Amino acid sequence: SVEFRQAGKNYGDNQVLKSVDLKVNAGEVVAICGPSGSGKSTLIRLINQLEPLSAGDILIDGKPTRNLQGKALRALRSRIGFVFQQFNLYAHLTAEQNITLSLTHVHGWKPDEAKQQAAALLARVGLGEKAQHFPAQLSGGQQQRVAIARALASSPQIILFDEPTSALDPEMIGEVLTVMKSLAHSGITMIVVTHEMQFAREIADRVVFIDGGDILEQAAPAQFFRSPQHPRARRFLQKVL
Ligand code: ATP
Ligand code: MG
Repeated sequence: SVEFRQAGKNYGDNQVLKSVDLKVNAGEVVAICGPSGSGKSTLIRLINQLEPLSAGDILIDGKPTRNLQGKALRALRSRIGFVFQQFNLYAHLTAEQNITLSLTHVHGWKPDEAKQQAAALLARVGLGEKAQHFPAQLSGGQQQRVAIARALASSPQIILFDEPTSALDPEMIGEVLTVMKSLAHSGITMIVVTHEMQFAREIADRVVFIDGGDILEQAAPAQFFRSPQHPRARRFLQKVL
């Protein structure tokens, strides 16, 4: 589980997350939505400490994570996968090498085992034939699927997505959502910042609406989309649906 306890973040005197309380249970799929600049990316980047917290704490499986460092921080991050909007693959490495790099260099896997893991993961995202391709030789949707495979390399319990389909041409969104759907049924905990309301509606167990650094509403998708309670959630949905 991932539990925010009065978690806050500021940049200088700009308070971008106020005092967030949010618990995501193990195996749950949560969609985070809200307007641009509302703090969505910040919220998930705090979980694996791509940004340090300013206040409160985030508990992973009940254990406080604030100010973890060194080995403990690396251990935490190996349990949390992260998928970025812009894929962030290493351009000079093949699909396979993008996946094996951290396994061999950070997690101490043997090269053969790492390659087997890469092959299994590439097959899982439908790219078994592309192991030796470089990112520039892959479509956007294929690159993002490699990025998902990479995020799964160390068998994390939690995977975080920051608008994974926003940089994609429309015809490639479906293939990435399909992979995400299959993951959602695999028991992994997923926190997904997304503008894909269809994904939120069909796949998420819960939708969390955030604006101005505050969680203004959270509900089951059916309820959220049928009758959003907060005026700002209603306004947001009118714009995006
Ligand atoms: P979008 O939908 O456009 O991606 P978002 O909801 O993900 O927006 P965040 O990226 O979390 O929003 O940003 C929230 C606020 O924090 C914004 O006002 C942004 O300018 C500010 N912010 C984000 N990162 C930094 C940073 N590294 N330094 C200073 N301010 C930042
Ligand atoms: Mg963002």
